[in-house]
Amino acid sequence: MVKRLHTGALILALTLAAACQDASTERDAGGDAPSVSTQNADDTRVAKQVFGFLPTASDQPSAALGGYARGCQAGAVQLAETGPTWQAMRLSRNRNWAQPETIDYVKDLSRFAATLHGWQGLYVGDMSQPRGGPMLTGHRSHQSGLDADVWMRPPDRLDLTAQDRENISSISMRRDGGAFTNDRWTDEHMRLLRAAASDDRVARIFVFPGAKVAMCDWETGDRAWLRKIRPWWGHHYHFHVRLRCPEGNDACKNQAPPPPGDGCAAAQTWVDNILDPPPPDPEATPRPSRGPLRMADLPGQCAAVAAN
Ligand SMILES: [Zn+2]
Repeated sequence: MVKRLHTGALILALTLAAACQDASTERDAGGDAPSVSTQNADDTRVAKQVFGFLPTASDQPSAALGGYARGCQAGAVQLAETGPTWQAMRLSRNRNWAQPETIDYVKDLSRFAATLHGWQGLYVGDMSQPRGGPMLTGHRSHQSGLDADVWMRPPDRLDLTAQDRENISSISMRRDGGAFTNDRWTDEHMRLLRAAASDDRVARIFVFPGAKVAMCDWETGDRAWLRKIRPWWGHHYHFHVRLRCPEGNDACKNQAPPPPGDGCAAAQTWVDNILDPPPPDPEATPRPSRGPLRMADLPGQCAAVAAN
């Protein structure tokens, strides 16, 4: 994958795509095969036009349905706007909804974060829409209630008003186009990411390539957690946690696990290519745009989730 991603024109195209975060046509970010669907095979409605306007969760048992970039969620839970060790940000987006497992995970991680020097907890960015599904703006994944963005800005207070949470921004941790971390990056960030990735519930965490290499250089003990830390475009204001399908969610689709090993050599190659881009590959053909997802592209259960 790394080889293909670093081919000339494709890099440019994907870099541009990443400006809207979480480009997910590639394997790592959650692109997956069309789901077999029988309940809504003729439903040509554009899915983001359906899911982008549903204000509340469905009144159904909780379930992640389909894939991270081609799915929806039933019976979602809303993260409390403020808790003892977290605040949800950008409340106007109404994306602080997720599966109960994701909510529990975020709360657990925020409790750990509060033990770090200079951190009162976590500022939690986008999770999913109330019923998941594609969004009118932003992410391509975050559809099945198992993705959560966590700001890299250490919270120094947890009494932000709703308006404050619209106005303040996270802080970038990168320099040189993501090849390196900058002087805002601390050991505490690495302790947080290590705890985040060491949790069994987690499948992957996306961060910019320079951060992955920084953690590869920093870790002197058990390196198993580094396997789940995946370099990706963007992700220098926040990191993105992706949970595995919860137990018993039969209609939820996991991704293939990351390649074996700590992934540090591949991350270093990515960094090298940022610093010294290879010449364009004349053989490279940009992958055609998939166009907006239709309801028929989602698991059949998603029609019922939307109609509930
Ligand atoms: Zn994300």
